[in-house]
Amino acid sequence: MKSVQEPVNLLDFDRQGLVSFFDDLGEKPFRATQILKWVHQAGVTNFSLMSNLSKSLRNYLEEHCTISAPKIAFDAIASDGTRKWLLEMACGNRVETVFIPESGRGTLCVSSQVGCSLACTFCSTAQQGFNRNLSVAEIIGQLFVAQQLLGEQQKISNIVMMGMGEPLLNFNNVVAAMNLMMDDFAYGLSKRRVTLSTSGIVPAIYRLTEACDVSLAVSLHAPNDELRNQLVPINKKYPLKELLEACRHYVKSAPRRHITFEYVMLAGINDSESDARALVRLLKKISCKVNLIPFNPFPGSDYQCTSNNGVQKFRDILHRSGLVVTVRKTRGEDIDAACGQLVGKVADKSRRTQKIKLIKAEHAA
Ligand code: SAH
Repeated sequence: MKSVQEPVNLLDFDRQGLVSFFDDLGEKPFRATQILKWVHQAGVTNFSLMSNLSKSLRNYLEEHCTISAPKIAFDAIASDGTRKWLLEMACGNRVETVFIPESGRGTLCVSSQVGCSLACTFCSTAQQGFNRNLSVAEIIGQLFVAQQLLGEQQKISNIVMMGMGEPLLNFNNVVAAMNLMMDDFAYGLSKRRVTLSTSGIVPAIYRLTEACDVSLAVSLHAPNDELRNQLVPINKKYPLKELLEACRHYVKSAPRRHITFEYVMLAGINDSESDARALVRLLKKISCKVNLIPFNPFPGSDYQCTSNNGVQKFRDILHRSGLVVTVRKTRGEDIDAACGQLVGKVADKSRRTQKIKLIKAEHAA
């Protein structure tokens, strides 16, 4: 058998990865299935308890491998039952994972990066800057840890890749983690219940079509390029025409043959009647659902959320024109667990340090 220096974290592998890992050891592919079931279904991390592995394989794994999940730095439960964990990753980086219980389902909101390199102006994660991509173990580890802590009573039925970071900028690790979420011998979730949310990294949307057909949500937030360039600056690189073309392509193989467009409601910015009508024109020919998200404020943000009345009016215009539209319920506000409030603890390695200093100076003043 091959000798390995650093312990190999088996949480870093999806089925395909495990099969080739065991192949290198001269072991048969079914070992991958056995490990998946022990780790992800039974929650067993001690190799000596894996009774259907040969003694020599158990010994080898004990010596050279590990199953190492993120550690819990903080655990908070909101008054509405929403639960947020601050998880400590390698090198002291911290990211947040949120569980949202609802009647008949439980959704886990998973982070893909430490911080975020995109500079969406209404998102608090963006204000933190970017540190690094999460590994497969750190992404799937969020589900692994949450499932163990929630136990049998609170089942995780849905996953949304809507935590910290831009999942499509950590493509390979996110795809491997989503493969595990959907693997019948790991978490067995249907592709309709695993949703990836992106700000619109166009080439990666095409790649995703080939790699993994999960449900897709696109953070639209504006009905024209001029406004979207300001709110979601990656739009300057991948403008709406290209983004919507990629969406139309994705729809052909998407679960339920539709895409969700997320639209954060910002008072006086993107919530006028003419914005609603422009949105209708933009989305007319795409099979989609629009999800209106009330803006969640965070320290240092200048935006206000559209009034309830304003959100209803906006919704009605979309609805009357035949679009399917829902309004996202804000959850977990009292523990800062709502959309766009996830910050973790990011040692900023990107250009936005300056901006954070300015925000801090404003607070101090
Ligand atoms: N980077 C990915 C996923 C993370 S954000 C993306 O952009 O889609 C998940 C969703 O929350 C996105 O639609 C994002 O635009 C939205 N969001 C970010 N900040 C928010 C805030 N302060 N209030 C409400 N929604 C917000």
